[in-house]
Amino acid sequence: MTRRGISSAWCAVLGLAGLVSACGTPPAEAPRYDLVIANGRVMDPESRLDAARHVGITGGRLAAISETPLQGVRTIDATGHVVAPGFIDLHEHGQQDESYSMMVRDGVTSAFELEVGTGDVAAWYAAREAGQRVNHGVSIGHIPARMKVLGDPGTGLLPAGIGGSGSASEDQLKAMEAILREGIRQGAVAMGFGSAYTPGAPIAEFERMFRVAAEAGLPAHIHIRGGIEGLKDTIAAARAAGAPLHIVHVNSVAGDDIDAFLAAIQAARDAGQDITTEAYPYGAGMTEIQSALFDDWRTWPDERFALHQLVSTGERLTRATFERARAAGGTVIIHGRSEEQTRKAIASPLSMIASDGFIENGRGHPRTSGTYAKVLGQYVREDKAVSLMDALQRMTLDPARRLERRVPAMASKGRLTIGADADVTIFNPDTVIDRATYEDGAIPSAGIPWVIVNGQLVVDNGALTEARPGRAIRAPVR
Ligand SMILES: [Zn+2]
Repeated sequence: MTRRGISSAWCAVLGLAGLVSACGTPPAEAPRYDLVIANGRVMDPESRLDAARHVGITGGRLAAISETPLQGVRTIDATGHVVAPGFIDLHEHGQQDESYSMMVRDGVTSAFELEVGTGDVAAWYAAREAGQRVNHGVSIGHIPARMKVLGDPGTGLLPAGIGGSGSASEDQLKAMEAILREGIRQGAVAMGFGSAYTPGAPIAEFERMFRVAAEAGLPAHIHIRGGIEGLKDTIAAARAAGAPLHIVHVNSVAGDDIDAFLAAIQAARDAGQDITTEAYPYGAGMTEIQSALFDDWRTWPDERFALHQLVSTGERLTRATFERARAAGGTVIIHGRSEEQTRKAIASPLSMIASDGFIENGRGHPRTSGTYAKVLGQYVREDKAVSLMDALQRMTLDPARRLERRVPAMASKGRLTIGADADVTIFNPDTVIDRATYEDGAIPSAGIPWVIVNGQLVVDNGALTEARPGRAIRAPVR
């Protein structure tokens, strides 16, 4: 160590003790922030800030967004990278560590299961209390309530019998309403529905349950049935009930009618209705093979079976293997939508980005691992179908706003503003891309080296850390 080095160190000690005047040179400034993200391109969809800034994080919150350098205990050099609010996924069935481990490397910092939801909100949150990589939340679900009340034999997420196909008596409808109201009391973030999975429920049953959602201002998140007419019936039912409405994965429920779907949603918005939607950037869907979506499988032409890929093995099915798989249960990937349909859904400013992801034992749809990187890499950078700022808005600010009325905590997410929760995703806009495939859905995305949840690094230099800073996101419990 040189004399000058000794002198500087001594002065720094004096400086910390408030004895600055004893030194000939000013002391080095002590770190003011737990973590600093230096030299990044900071993009905030709420303020539309898009500029080089230094970000300081302290106590799990954003404490500084500065044009001049900041001192942190740890500093990340984000040169060449975009610094964005962490991505908020409103549609994620994989609410366990394996799915969280994939999603977080795709930039997701908050994951919600709002389509199917749960029948027991308190138990759902209690099961995740030990700490998770990402923030997480759930809806109270009409599907599980119906399965319970009607006595469905299914053991998975979705009805495998009477819970889907059966019709409910007045007493059974009242029992469902009671389950939904109890979920609201326990802090459910939204109310989940799947008319496609419960064909036995008439539209009047949905309108009745939408009224329960409207009582407490919950958005109704629904996987609709019946194409464009089904969409219009659902919009009318939500309007009559006064419930906010969110149409899940418009890309898959619209099929060839994507233009008509987006136009109908826009028309309802223009007429003053609270309605939003979402999409994922893949041409194939995935669901449980025992669900009502396949109830007519015996009437299919032979070639249709080959569009179905069994998740557990990756094999394409035939009439014979489909029949065996339907009896055994499990999940199946359904191919067949065009790239044009997917692009239209992703390009629309109406579509929030949401994954509909789920992965277990290394097997699942690539959307679990790659949704956000695929939008940023393929649809923003390569196809230029959407601007980077608009894509980020639909990954962050729009989903936060969708939930804010019911969940005040969401007002601190989806933005990069002083005092907001320090959920931050840092990616390279030139290299970010999905890598998961239909054959291997468990390959993490590339180009997202750092992800921060509540001020802690959950992805550091592209690798998962041991941190579990994710918190429950829940409406006030009454
Ligand atoms: Zn889903």
